[in-house]
Amino acid sequence: MKRYIGLVHHPIINKNGEIVTTSVTNLDIHDIARSARTYGFDGYFIITPLEEQHKLVTRILDHWNTDVGNAYNPDRQDALSFVELKNSVEDACSEIERREGSSPAIVVTGANFKDDSGQENAILKQIKLDKKPLFLLFGTGWGLAQSVIDRADFMAPPLAGKAKDGYNHLSVRSAVAIYCDRFTQYID
Ligand code: SAM
Repeated sequence: MKRYIGLVHHPIINKNGEIVTTSVTNLDIHDIARSARTYGFDGYFIITPLEEQHKLVTRILDHWNTDVGNAYNPDRQDALSFVELKNSVEDACSEIERREGSSPAIVVTGANFKDDSGQENAILKQIKLDKKPLFLLFGTGWGLAQSVIDRADFMAPPLAGKAKDGYNHLSVRSAVAIYCDRFTQYID
């Protein structure tokens, strides 16, 4: 099953529930690229409409894609080589459709979902039946905006913590790695 990851920076909600555009975090570029590469994903889209952010991310990617960066850490360069920038979730979906010949099944993630689409293997079973690529979407800030969640095909079951006081604040990088492992164990 072809599979892609998207990290959304707009539309995102902030702590006041307002729709905002978050800035790209350098660590998210590197760490999520490495998780995606490790688990055999076919692409990682960094989604932001801000031209300035595109320039920033491109500068970082260019650094690692040069001979210097490659010589210093070829594994890092290898992971970063399939990071791409897109202005919107729609643009990323169009790119996936162009490559795979089918629009992707969007699976959104969030810590505060009140309900979900069932366990990862059940979600994947349906996606396989639909013969669609998987597109795992992650948020930033305080989570994905409702408009993104509403247009998704599936809602992944939130990662439930074990903290007795209910503390559950994973970084998106950690959440990505956990979901990559959970979803790919059901993908041959
Ligand atoms: N309260 C926000 C939420 O409900 O997702 C936390 C945002 S967290 C900093 C950024 C992203 O990491 C989330 O949009 C989601 O994609 C992922 N994430 C973080 N913790 C998660 C969890 N416990 N379960 C599922 N996804 C999580």
